[in-house]
Formats: sequence, structure tokens, C-alpha cells
Amino acid sequence: MSAYGNLQKIKDGKRTYAITPHIPGGFILPDNLIKIGEVAKKYKGVLKITSGQRILITNLKQEDLPAIWEELGMEPAVKVQNSLKNVEMCPANYCKRSKYPTIGIGMKISKNFHGMELPCRTKIGVAGCKNACTSVYSKDIGVIVDLDSTFFITVGGSGGYYPRSADILTKGLLEKDAFNLVKTILFYYKDTAKAGEKLGDFIDRISLDTFREEILNIANLELKL
Ligand code: SF4
Repeated sequence: MSAYGNLQKIKDGKRTYAITPHIPGGFILPDNLIKIGEVAKKYKGVLKITSGQRILITNLKQEDLPAIWEELGMEPAVKVQNSLKNVEMCPANYCKRSKYPTIGIGMKISKNFHGMELPCRTKIGVAGCKNACTSVYSKDIGVIVDLDSTFFITVGGSGGYYPRSADILTKGLLEKDAFNLVKTILFYYKDTAKAGEKLGDFIDRISLDTFREEILNIANLELKL
């Protein structure tokens, strides 16, 4: 990592770097999207829409990175690898299948906890119905709206090298309880798991029942499944 750019490739001795600006929930104002396009064009960047609801600008020169960040006027999406890297959201407020306008809780989670240092890299998914369009069951923490418009929380999902499908922690929550439960999970995980331990591995080590009991106790909530 150099000035918030990742080394991507070394070809014929030439190094190229990539950067990823923070775009909360993948929602971006037209002017900011235009700015990304203009800056990428100026510095001969290659744009890639990522699975994490962001835009990667790659093929950049290291010496251009400070000027690029300056001209973008945006924050890097990831400053520390072992942190809450991403809060992915479906476009619930604009979707005909939505059971609840979940962009609000998604943005609140992002605003409060994005970048929080944690034992391992962590992703949260937020979806306005059980279709769970943001692949919520492969996220470390999931916030999903049920058929009756209440929330349920999933934990321990992971994609990639060691895939793990998430478990449902509890159901039947109001928005404020769902938010508090996410907060409780993040702090309990931060304080209790081993360094480098993914949330799913931590749950498997201490057992889902123990994890659930501890979290619900701290959050002062009853189990509903
Ligand atoms: S999860 Fe549901 S509300 Fe969200 S985009 Fe998919 S269908 Fe729409």
C-alpha cells in the first residue's frame, strides 16, 4: 500500500497501481461519477466496476497517486485491511419487491462503522427483502428484511477461498434493534476473536449457540427464529 494505492502488476519493470474511492453503498452523485471518469482519463486509468459496489481505478503510476486523490477529493475505501471494508446495499427504496426502505439503516451502519478495525477483513450486506440481492448470505454480517417487514440478522458468511454460508442469528427485529445488534456483533467480535480470525471461523470455534447467547444477552434481546 502506497499513498492508498495497491501495487497491481509489474510488467517489464513497470509498476502499476490501483485505487478505490469510498462510495457508500454504491450510491454516487452524477458529478462524482463524472469526476472519477475525468481523473481516470487524465491519468490513463482503467476503470473496473467491482463486486463490492465500488469503482477501481487501475493502471496508475505511483507518482501520480497523491495528485489523483487530491483531484478526486474522495476518501479511500480501505485504509486498513483488517477492518469493516464494505457495507453493501441493495437499492431497496427504489425496488418494487422491497419490504422496507433499507438504504437508511445501511447508510447509518456505513457512517458509524466503515473502517472500524477488526480481527479480520469484514463485509456487511443489507437487503430490503429475502431475495438478498447483495449476496448477503456470503457476507460476515447480513441485515435482511423478512416477509412481515421485520429484520433478521445473519452472521459468519464468507465468499472466496473458504466459502461459508451465513447462519441466521435471530429474527423479528425492528430497525433500531437490528442496528444495535450489528453494533453489538462488531464490538464483541473486535474484543473477543483472535487476530486474523474471520467472523465465521470465530463462530465455528466458540459454537453458534454460544455466540448467539452472548450477543443476545449483551443486546438485551430475546431469540426469535
Ligand atoms: S433484495 Fe429485494 S428489495 Fe433488494 S433489490 Fe433485491 S429484490 Fe429488491
